[in-house]
Amino acid sequence: MNLPELGWTERERQLFEPYRAAGLLPARVAVAYGATFRVYLEDDETLADVPGRMRHEAQSRRDLPAVGDWVAVQWPSRQERATIQHILPRTSLFSRKVAGQETTEQILAANVNVAFLVAGLDRDFNIRRLERYLAMTWESGARPVIVLNKADLADDVETCRAEVAGIAGGVPVHTISSKLGSGIEELFPYLQLGTTVALLGSSGVGKSTLINRLVGHERQLTRDVREKDSRGRHTTTHRELVPLPGGALLIDTPGMRELQLWTADEGVKEAFDDVAALAEGCYFRDCAHDTEPKCAVKAAAEDGRLAPGRLESYRKIQAELRHLATRQDALAQQAEKKQTRTIHRAVRRMPPKR
Ligand code: GDP
Ligand code: ZN
Repeated sequence: MNLPELGWTERERQLFEPYRAAGLLPARVAVAYGATFRVYLEDDETLADVPGRMRHEAQSRRDLPAVGDWVAVQWPSRQERATIQHILPRTSLFSRKVAGQETTEQILAANVNVAFLVAGLDRDFNIRRLERYLAMTWESGARPVIVLNKADLADDVETCRAEVAGIAGGVPVHTISSKLGSGIEELFPYLQLGTTVALLGSSGVGKSTLINRLVGHERQLTRDVREKDSRGRHTTTHRELVPLPGGALLIDTPGMRELQLWTADEGVKEAFDDVAALAEGCYFRDCAHDTEPKCAVKAAAEDGRLAPGRLESYRKIQAELRHLATRQDALAQQAEKKQTRTIHRAVRRMPPKR
């Protein structure tokens, strides 16, 4: 793939100029294998490492490369791996809380321009889940587009579409059937050269089926494609950046499939701008719209000006964010204590002054 096919635009060209002058090459991170990365360069690809300096200086995962990142690499010869020297500023970032004991952030994808939020119009249809994906996408910096798939299974497509438009806050809503291939052409305008897209949505909504449609061939597209290497041998390569007809690039990382909330404060505000507007009328500035008196949001929920279910899902997301914030605080305090202990130990080890 050439640079424009990798999503390179005027923005990247300008940002890259100082690195070009320093003799570095532009590359896009295609796969992350822990500490090693597969990067695509102009008509080429290689494995790349992160130098110790970058690893030590990293304050968080955000300071390390992620799939979709534009990076400046040093690649002296094809016999060696490249080293990633710099990460270009990102236009967007998707991350999630890593399930389990430790609250760690996992970076899923960087520089996604358009996020297709896919939901299925079958019995699993859940408008609350769409609200969450919307909040996450606003938070990421990518532009959301709602795709209601399995239109062939819906009794009343127009009612569903209207209901979704009610929570979408002006985000475009498309109804398609990936199985029948209907409505797919409505997505083509988003798939132009230089655009990086991603599909988000729960398992079973039809993301793989839609990707196959978009890629434009019947063969089941898996992330692992068999292809011939330079010596003509068949090899299996793991692909997370997939070129689409029309020139767009699809980021398809495994983690994008079950996103969880991380920090979505700003995103929640935008996704719940109806609640935010009503909250202006609450008596208390910091009203949680729960047990507070003179709450304009509760009043609107009661008399139907706020759609049923909106307040509950708003409260649920708020509670989840509070829980996460508490855990993050606790972890930050632990880290600080550890650092203080290390400093004390280092001071104790210093030779006494004479
Ligand atoms: P994913 O988990 O989101 O990747 O979903 P898949 O693409 O694997 O699809 C899940 C199931 O839904 C499969 O059995 C598909 O054949 C089916 N499916 C996908 N799109 C449509 C559609 O538009 N209409 C119908 N009726 N079924 C679909
Ligand atoms: Zn209130």
